[in-house]
This record gives sequence, C-alpha cells and structure tokens, in this order.
Amino acid sequence: MAHIDAGKTTLTERILYYTGRTYKMGDTHEGTATMDWMEQEQERGITITSAATTTQWENHRINIIDTPGHVDFTVEVERSLRVLDGAVGVFCAKGGVEPQSETVWRQADKYMVPRIAFVNKMDIMGADFLNVVSMIKERLGANPVPVQFPIGAEDQFKGIIDLFEMKAYFYNDDQGKDVEVRDIPAEYLEKAEELRVSLMESIAETDESLMEKYLGGEEVTNEEAKTALRKACIATDLTPVFCGSAYKNKGVQKLLDGVVDYMPAPTDIESIKGILPGTEEEVYRHSSDEEPFSALAFKIMNDPFVGKLAFFRVYSGVLESGSYVYNSTKGKKERIGRILQMHANHREDTDKVYSGDIAAAVGLKFTTTGDTLCFEDDEVILESMNFPEPVISVAIEPKTKAGRDKMGIALSKLSEEDPTFKTHTDTDSGQTIISGMGELHLEIIVDRLLREFKVEANVGKPQVAYRETIRKLADVEGKYIKQSGGRGQYGHCKVKFEPLDANNPDKPFEFVNAIIGGVVPREYIP
Ligand code: GDP
Repeated sequence: MAHIDAGKTTLTERILYYTGRTYKMGDTHEGTATMDWMEQEQERGITITSAATTTQWENHRINIIDTPGHVDFTVEVERSLRVLDGAVGVFCAKGGVEPQSETVWRQADKYMVPRIAFVNKMDIMGADFLNVVSMIKERLGANPVPVQFPIGAEDQFKGIIDLFEMKAYFYNDDQGKDVEVRDIPAEYLEKAEELRVSLMESIAETDESLMEKYLGGEEVTNEEAKTALRKACIATDLTPVFCGSAYKNKGVQKLLDGVVDYMPAPTDIESIKGILPGTEEEVYRHSSDEEPFSALAFKIMNDPFVGKLAFFRVYSGVLESGSYVYNSTKGKKERIGRILQMHANHREDTDKVYSGDIAAAVGLKFTTTGDTLCFEDDEVILESMNFPEPVISVAIEPKTKAGRDKMGIALSKLSEEDPTFKTHTDTDSGQTIISGMGELHLEIIVDRLLREFKVEANVGKPQVAYRETIRKLADVEGKYIKQSGGRGQYGHCKVKFEPLDANNPDKPFEFVNAIIGGVVPREYIP
C-alpha cells in the first residue's frame, strides 16, 4: 500500500518475478505489468483493482493484493486491508510520507494491520533513507526501526547493509541476480553499528526478558531479537524498515525474507469476531481447519472467461469446490461451481481451500463485497467493512437508443463489483445518474462501459451529490420542500429535503441532493 507512484506495482512485479511465477519482468513504463490486468490500468499506468495473487517464498505461501494509491480508490484499499494479515507500506525515498501514504496508513491503523515499511527508489535524485524513517515516525506516529541501511544513494546506490547480520549486500547488476555478500565497507561501519545498537534497544524495550539480558550485558542473539521483533511487529508496536530500488532490482529478495520473518501467518492473528444471525450474540472463529467454515467475500469481478468471480478470504474451516455455501449476510444458499487461485500469469482450479487461504469462487450469484460465507448449520456473520457514500455524480446517457438497455445491464454489473459506485434515476430530470468517489473513478467507469460492454455514452458535467443529516430545520414543514433561487452559497440550486422516516417526521432530515449547474467548487459543499 502506498501513495500513487511510490512503486507498488513495480515492486509487486519484481516479487512475482523472484517468486518464480512470471517469466518476463513487467514494467509499468511499458504498460506490461502483470498485476495491472485491465487494459486501462496498463494505458494509464495506475492500479485500479486489487487483484489477489498467490505466490511462494521460502516454503511460505504469500497472497498479494496490490492496492491502488489514487485517492478515488481508497475503498479498494480498505477492503484489502480488511482481509489481509499484514501490509508492506511502500514509500518513495525522496517524497517519503505523501498524502495518500498517510490515508492508507491510518486505514491500516484502524484495522490494526501489522506493517513493514519499504523505502523504495533509493536510486533517484534526492533519495534520503533516514529522512523517510523520521517522516514515518513524525507524520504517521509509528515506531519505525531500520533493519537495513543503504550503501550509497541516488546513482551511487550500490546495495544494502543487513543490520542483524552486519553484512553488506552488493548488487552488481540491474537484474538483482549477481548479489555479493561482503564485509561492511569501512566508511559505513560506524553508522551501521550505531543503527544496530538502536535496533537492539528498540526491540529490547518491547520484551522484558530481553531487556534484562541487554542491561545485564549478556549477548542477545539475532534469533532472539528477530523473534521479539516479529512479536512487536504483529502487535503493531514496531515497524521494521527496509530499503531498495524495485526498478533496479535491489533489495526485493531481502524484503520478501522480511515478509516471512515479521508478517503474521493467519494462525498468529486473533480470532475473527462475528455474530449469530438474527441475534446479538458474539461468535468467534479461530484460524483452524477443524473449525466450521467461514469466509468473507471482499471483491467481485466480472471475468470475460468464467463470468462472475467472488474473491474471498477463508477465516476458518475448509471449503470444497462443488459444495453449497450459505451466504448468511443475504440469507441465501449458493453452490460454488469452481474455486480458482490466481497466480501472476495463470489461474489454477483447486478442489479445496483451507483456513487462511484467499481464492475466487465461480458461480455465486447473490454474493457481493462484504458478505459472509459459511455453512447452513454453522451460521455466523463476520464483522465486515463499511463503505463511504459516493461524493461526485454525473448524468449519463447512451449515444444510441439501442444502447439504453445495454447500459442499464452494464451499470448494474459495474455497481455489483464496486460498492462505492452507485447508479440511480433522478426523479426530477429522469436522467440516469452515476456516482462515485472522484472524477477519475467515473472516467474509468465510462471507459469500461465502452471497452467491456460496447456502450458509447455521453456524460454531463459533474454535479455534486451529497448527503447530510440535518438535525433541526425550523423552516421545514411537511416532508418535501423545493427551493430555488439565487441566494447565499446555494445560488442557482434546487434543494430537496426528505425526512429519513416518513412516518416520523421529527427524526433527522436527510439533505438528499443538490443539483447545481456546472462544476461546483468543493467549498460550496456544506
Ligand atoms: P504505483 O503507483 O505505486 O504502483 O507505482 P509504479 O510501480 O507504477 O511506479 C511509478 C513509477 O516509478 C514508474 O514509472 C516506475 O517505473 C517508477 N519506479 C518504481 N520503482 C522505482 C525505483 O525503485 N526507482 C526508480 N528510479 N523508479 C521507480
């Protein structure tokens, strides 16, 4: 997760390359990155959807979700964080903590997601590792501890010092294949020793018995220190910091080692809370294959080959393809036709998925993002995620009459995939209105209408749609008021008030919609 352009997609590409699942290194410059599967993502060089990919490193299975960094797609990040056990925060070595890095970091705080940080782009002008570390501390209020230190920076960035091993890794080529392990160069020794002391101290502070040893002058082994760091990282008390250059293939393998060393396995995570449907009784599901099956659907995608795919994270139990699941959120029983696992450049049918797995189900008609899947005789509704209301709307119209039906179907498919994309017919104008999280978000939707559904559409100027709850409104009588005119900051707008509950007009009113000609500057939104 990161601010746009910090290098998440490039890093993910490299990870897939080193973990042996892709054979050609994709490059977002050339628009060939494997994770950016949609044509538009490749053309625009941004990551819109969070494709979940399964890969292997050092006998560990790692599921990767490359999250988008653009502010319009914050919700994608949110739902990824909900189902992931750990996150790698990618920072630009020059920009450090940027606005969107802050947003996603706070989201991860909310779900208490353990994190490690990767200071990327050590090869660019202005790269400054320790400056980024202090920004992480000051701006994000985290407790970053460097476990590495870069050898050189900018075009002199040559490699990485491992502060546990106290060894230098030199990258002699740009493919990350010729890596040489040497003694730390003399001019870096003092800095490395200073950082190692502060690393060991920070770790000792989180563990009483280590602290006693440390203060007593006894040797704390690297193994003991790493075990304690893993614990502190999972408890979100410390954030280990790594560095490198994804683009120049430096530091990626060591970051993967770090994921295995410090990120939690599903079994390290606390049990997930849920409720018994129809009651308020709390139920906990532990990460174990012995427990009843429970899973959370976190992403719906329409695939051109197999149709609707529902990505889900298994929290407990085992699921077999061909079996029936109970969608406890919707109260529907559904059959899972196939279960697929996505790899960088192919997909694989699997018969069974286990607690901790991420996979995609084919054949679930009713399931949408956030739904719980379980078995009918062991019902639970897992704690899910909240989605914000869309903030921007445009009117949309097909260019041809024939496009009208097609557009309706396409829009409903798209809103099924994306809980922050909504569509409705405006009662006053009869226009179809689409709403989303920002201009880019809606632009992408219109683009997808054309590419995937062959619907050419015209869109009106963005109109701002917002909802606001009004607690007391002395002038409002009855349940419907229309006001037009050029007064105050709502000049030239038509405002409609409706009580939330028609039978109980004293309840708070909801400010349903303000339709204002032209683009409305943000400061006009009350
Ligand atoms: P994302 O928006 O975070 O997914 O970022 P991308 O992976 O698309 O990278 C944004 C741009 O930065 C692309 O042009 C990459 O080639 C470039 N980039 C990524 N990592 C590095 C790096 O380590 N060094 C340099 N010089 N460029 C990088």
